[in-house]
Amino acid sequence: ESTVTDIRDSIGAIRDYPKPGIIFRDITPLLQDPDAFRSAIKLLKQRYSQLGITQIAAIEARGFIFGSALAYAMGCGVTLLRKPGKLPGKVVSQSYQLEYGSDQLEMHENALTMNDRVLIVDDLLATGGTVIAANQLITSLGADVIEAAFVVSLPELGGEDKLQQAGVACYTLCQF
Ligand code: 5GP
Repeated sequence: ESTVTDIRDSIGAIRDYPKPGIIFRDITPLLQDPDAFRSAIKLLKQRYSQLGITQIAAIEARGFIFGSALAYAMGCGVTLLRKPGKLPGKVVSQSYQLEYGSDQLEMHENALTMNDRVLIVDDLLATGGTVIAANQLITSLGADVIEAAFVVSLPELGGEDKLQQAGVACYTLCQF
Protein backbone atom coordinates (compact mmCIF):
# COMPACT_ATOMS: atom_id res chain seq x y z
CA GLU A 1 0.00 0.00 0.00
CA SER A 2 1.37 3.44 -0.96
CA THR A 3 1.51 6.52 1.29
CA VAL A 4 0.85 10.07 0.11
CA THR A 5 4.64 10.45 -0.12
CA ASP A 6 4.86 7.39 -2.40
CA ILE A 7 2.03 8.77 -4.53
CA ARG A 8 3.82 12.12 -4.81
CA ASP A 9 7.09 10.38 -5.70
CA SER A 10 5.34 8.48 -8.51
CA ILE A 11 4.47 11.73 -10.33
CA GLY A 12 6.88 12.74 -13.07
CA ALA A 13 8.17 16.19 -14.04
CA ILE A 14 8.61 17.11 -17.69
CA ARG A 15 10.54 20.30 -18.31
CA ASP A 16 9.50 22.78 -21.00
CA TYR A 17 6.14 21.07 -21.74
CA PRO A 18 3.85 22.27 -23.23
CA LYS A 19 5.88 25.49 -23.44
CA PRO A 20 9.41 26.63 -22.52
CA GLY A 21 9.74 27.41 -18.80
CA ILE A 22 6.80 25.19 -17.69
CA ILE A 23 7.33 22.07 -15.58
CA PHE A 24 4.50 19.69 -16.48
CA ARG A 25 3.54 17.31 -13.67
CA ASP A 26 3.03 13.94 -15.37
CA ILE A 27 0.56 11.55 -13.72
CA THR A 28 1.16 8.69 -16.19
CA PRO A 29 3.80 6.98 -13.98
CA LEU A 30 1.33 7.11 -11.08
CA LEU A 31 -1.26 5.34 -13.24
CA GLN A 32 1.28 2.68 -14.20
CA ASP A 33 2.13 1.97 -10.55
CA PRO A 34 -0.70 -0.29 -9.33
CA ASP A 35 -0.07 0.46 -5.63
CA ALA A 36 0.10 4.22 -6.13
CA PHE A 37 -3.04 4.32 -8.30
CA ARG A 38 -5.04 2.07 -6.00
CA SER A 39 -3.91 3.98 -2.90
CA ALA A 40 -4.77 7.35 -4.41
CA ILE A 41 -8.31 6.13 -5.09
CA LYS A 42 -8.53 4.53 -1.63
CA LEU A 43 -7.52 7.77 0.13
CA LEU A 44 -10.11 9.75 -1.82
CA LYS A 45 -12.75 7.11 -1.13
CA GLN A 46 -12.03 7.31 2.62
CA ARG A 47 -12.60 11.06 2.55
CA TYR A 48 -15.82 11.03 0.51
CA SER A 49 -17.68 7.76 1.01
CA GLN A 50 -19.83 8.96 3.95
CA LEU A 51 -20.92 12.30 2.43
CA GLY A 52 -23.89 11.15 0.36
CA ILE A 53 -22.18 11.95 -2.96
CA THR A 54 -24.50 10.95 -5.82
CA GLN A 55 -22.35 11.91 -8.84
CA ILE A 56 -18.69 12.49 -9.53
CA ALA A 57 -18.24 15.26 -12.09
CA ALA A 58 -15.11 14.20 -13.97
CA ILE A 59 -13.21 16.69 -16.14
CA GLU A 60 -11.84 15.67 -19.54
CA ALA A 61 -9.44 13.99 -19.95
CA ARG A 62 -7.29 12.96 -16.99
CA GLY A 63 -10.13 13.68 -14.57
CA PHE A 64 -12.06 10.86 -16.30
CA ILE A 65 -9.45 8.33 -15.16
CA PHE A 66 -9.43 9.23 -11.46
CA GLY A 67 -13.11 10.21 -11.42
CA SER A 68 -14.40 6.96 -12.86
CA ALA A 69 -12.17 4.77 -10.67
CA LEU A 70 -13.36 6.71 -7.59
CA ALA A 71 -17.01 6.51 -8.65
CA TYR A 72 -16.70 2.74 -9.11
CA ALA A 73 -15.11 2.42 -5.66
CA MET A 74 -17.76 4.63 -4.02
CA GLY A 75 -20.76 3.25 -5.87
CA CYS A 76 -21.89 6.55 -7.36
CA GLY A 77 -22.35 7.79 -10.92
CA VAL A 78 -20.01 9.66 -13.23
CA THR A 79 -21.05 12.89 -14.96
CA LEU A 80 -18.78 13.99 -17.81
CA LEU A 81 -17.57 17.56 -18.27
CA ARG A 82 -16.15 17.65 -21.77
CA LYS A 83 -14.36 19.85 -24.26
CA PRO A 84 -16.68 21.53 -26.83
CA GLY A 85 -18.49 19.42 -29.41
CA LYS A 86 -17.91 16.01 -27.79
CA LEU A 87 -21.24 15.34 -26.05
CA PRO A 88 -24.08 14.08 -28.27
CA GLY A 89 -27.07 15.60 -26.44
CA LYS A 90 -28.15 19.15 -25.62
CA VAL A 91 -25.47 20.85 -23.58
CA VAL A 92 -24.81 23.79 -21.31
CA SER A 93 -21.46 25.49 -21.94
CA GLN A 94 -19.11 27.64 -19.91
CA SER A 95 -16.03 29.36 -21.28
CA TYR A 96 -13.05 30.30 -19.12
CA GLN A 97 -9.81 32.20 -19.54
CA LEU A 98 -6.47 30.53 -20.04
CA GLU A 99 -3.10 32.28 -19.88
CA TYR A 100 -3.40 32.80 -23.63
CA GLY A 101 -6.93 32.69 -25.06
CA SER A 102 -9.88 30.77 -23.66
CA ASP A 103 -11.36 27.29 -23.45
CA GLN A 104 -14.79 25.83 -22.84
CA LEU A 105 -16.41 23.00 -20.88
CA GLU A 106 -19.76 21.41 -21.63
CA MET A 107 -22.13 19.03 -19.90
CA HIS A 108 -25.50 17.57 -20.83
CA GLU A 109 -28.22 19.99 -19.75
CA ASN A 110 -30.20 17.17 -18.07
CA ALA A 111 -27.17 15.51 -16.45
CA LEU A 112 -27.89 16.66 -12.89
CA THR A 113 -30.80 17.79 -10.73
CA MET A 114 -31.21 19.70 -7.47
CA ASN A 115 -31.13 16.34 -5.68
CA ASP A 116 -27.54 15.66 -6.71
CA ARG A 117 -24.59 16.02 -4.34
CA VAL A 118 -21.58 16.34 -6.61
CA LEU A 119 -17.85 15.84 -6.14
CA ILE A 120 -15.73 17.45 -8.88
CA VAL A 121 -12.62 15.40 -9.75
CA ASP A 122 -9.61 16.34 -11.86
CA ASP A 123 -5.99 15.24 -11.87
CA LEU A 124 -4.45 18.63 -11.13
CA LEU A 125 -5.34 22.11 -9.85
CA ALA A 126 -3.28 24.93 -11.37
CA THR A 127 -4.91 28.39 -11.72
CA GLY A 128 -8.38 27.01 -10.88
CA GLY A 129 -10.04 28.31 -14.06
CA THR A 130 -11.17 24.87 -15.20
CA VAL A 131 -12.79 23.98 -11.90
CA ILE A 132 -14.49 27.36 -11.52
CA ALA A 133 -16.12 26.74 -14.92
CA ALA A 134 -17.11 23.22 -13.85
CA ASN A 135 -18.64 24.58 -10.64
CA GLN A 136 -20.64 27.17 -12.61
CA LEU A 137 -22.05 24.50 -14.93
CA ILE A 138 -22.99 22.14 -12.12
CA THR A 139 -24.63 24.79 -9.96
CA SER A 140 -26.50 26.17 -13.01
CA LEU A 141 -28.31 22.82 -13.14
CA GLY A 142 -29.31 23.23 -9.49
CA ALA A 143 -27.00 20.56 -8.05
CA ASP A 144 -24.82 21.02 -4.94
CA VAL A 145 -21.03 20.90 -5.27
CA ILE A 146 -19.73 19.30 -2.08
CA GLU A 147 -16.01 19.66 -2.86
CA ALA A 148 -13.43 19.55 -5.67
CA ALA A 149 -10.76 16.83 -5.34
CA PHE A 150 -7.39 16.61 -7.09
CA VAL A 151 -4.42 14.30 -7.00
CA VAL A 152 -2.02 17.24 -7.39
CA SER A 153 -2.11 20.99 -6.84
CA LEU A 154 0.40 23.69 -7.72
CA PRO A 155 -0.21 26.25 -4.91
CA GLU A 156 1.99 28.94 -6.49
CA LEU A 157 -0.52 29.24 -9.33
CA GLY A 158 -3.27 30.38 -6.95
CA GLY A 159 -6.01 27.86 -7.68
CA GLU A 160 -6.75 27.13 -4.02
CA ASP A 161 -7.24 30.83 -3.27
CA LYS A 162 -9.45 31.27 -6.33
CA LEU A 163 -11.64 28.33 -5.29
CA GLN A 164 -11.88 29.64 -1.74
CA GLN A 165 -13.03 33.03 -3.05
CA ALA A 166 -15.67 31.25 -5.16
CA GLY A 167 -16.85 29.29 -2.12
CA VAL A 168 -15.76 25.90 -3.47
CA ALA A 169 -14.08 23.62 -0.94
CA CYS A 170 -11.09 21.75 -2.29
CA TYR A 171 -8.81 18.88 -1.33
CA THR A 172 -5.59 17.63 -2.89
CA LEU A 173 -3.53 14.53 -2.14
CA CYS A 174 -0.15 16.22 -2.82
CA GLN A 175 1.40 19.53 -3.78
CA PHE A 176 4.35 20.69 -5.87
P1 5GP B 1 -6.25 25.27 -14.31
O1 5GP B 1 -7.56 25.51 -14.99
O2 5GP B 1 -6.42 24.96 -12.84
O3 5GP B 1 -5.25 26.36 -14.56
O4 5GP B 1 -5.57 24.02 -15.00
C1 5GP B 1 -5.92 22.72 -14.61
C2 5GP B 1 -6.21 21.88 -15.82
O5 5GP B 1 -5.10 21.87 -16.71
C3 5GP B 1 -6.49 20.46 -15.43
O6 5GP B 1 -7.53 19.93 -16.22
C4 5GP B 1 -5.17 19.73 -15.68
O7 5GP B 1 -5.39 18.45 -16.21
C5 5GP B 1 -4.42 20.62 -16.68
N1 5GP B 1 -3.04 20.88 -16.29
C6 5GP B 1 -2.44 22.09 -16.18
N2 5GP B 1 -1.15 21.96 -15.82
C7 5GP B 1 -0.91 20.63 -15.69
C8 5GP B 1 0.25 19.84 -15.31
O8 5GP B 1 1.35 20.32 -15.00
N3 5GP B 1 0.08 18.49 -15.28
C9 5GP B 1 -1.10 17.91 -15.57
N4 5GP B 1 -1.17 16.58 -15.49
N5 5GP B 1 -2.21 18.63 -15.94
C10 5GP B 1 -2.12 19.96 -15.99
